[in-house]
Amino acid sequence: MKTPRAFAAILVALLSLLAALSCALPGPARAAKTDAALPPEAALDLGVLRQAYPGAVLGMERGASGHLELLLAGGTRLVYDDGRARTVKEAEVSPDVRTMLAQVYPLGPADELSAHPAAHFDPGRRRVQAFFLFLYGRSEAEVRKTSRSVRFDGHGAPFSTRHGAADALARVWARLEPQLPEHPEWKAVLRPFGGTLCWRNIAATSRLSVHSFGAAVDLNPQLPYWLTARHPEKVPAQVLAFPREIVAAFEAEGFVWGGKWAEYDMMHFEYRPELVLKARVLRGEVKLAQ
Ligand SMILES: [Zn+2]
Repeated sequence: MKTPRAFAAILVALLSLLAALSCALPGPARAAKTDAALPPEAALDLGVLRQAYPGAVLGMERGASGHLELLLAGGTRLVYDDGRARTVKEAEVSPDVRTMLAQVYPLGPADELSAHPAAHFDPGRRRVQAFFLFLYGRSEAEVRKTSRSVRFDGHGAPFSTRHGAADALARVWARLEPQLPEHPEWKAVLRPFGGTLCWRNIAATSRLSVHSFGAAVDLNPQLPYWLTARHPEKVPAQVLAFPREIVAAFEAEGFVWGGKWAEYDMMHFEYRPELVLKARVLRGEVKLAQ
């Protein structure tokens, strides 16, 4: 026969076991703080954002509203997925973070597919403005204060020093400059130089252009832009003829090219290391750091 002391010991052991099990169970009220607890798409998006913007993007959890939220340095939160179905216009004007990252950028030399993108396939053109204000600065003065001049084809191009953007642009030019003598035809694409930092809205919208944040480059402004192109039927051929070494140099350093968008902007390259990283992960070229 067992003593009352032995019963007490068994009871304590059982209670500890129950406590341990309840900690291991993902209760409904428990926040999804770990990547393992997130849906696969959210875990991938969090992984690429954390790796592309180290120290700025910290995690993801379910907020009071029940929606997944991105946790940013300094306590800022951005809704990752608000569950709303969006029209094309709404996705452009007010995307959530999931929508911003949903279209996968087609890395690599332009081909028939990227020269004829599906309607409204614009990977990189849907932007959560609050995220860019957080990343690069909330005013022109703040952006300028944190920018530096980057040497690019004879220009001193102001570019944000945050999140590696200016260093990435400097490396783009370091890749291109030695090849320039062999490619006199590049001059028609590079010159005149359109510029980098400029605090302004996207044409015909009230949304800030990424040029406002010192994180985009325009090459020759005479290159076709979807709103003003006089010969849109010639654009696919121009995309295919665009110097692939220039596109490759930018993409290698974390930039996307507006020439691959359905709403094309052929002069425009934009520093979006999270989109380039997501494309590489999905192609199996790289694995995310744990
Ligand atoms: Zn531009």
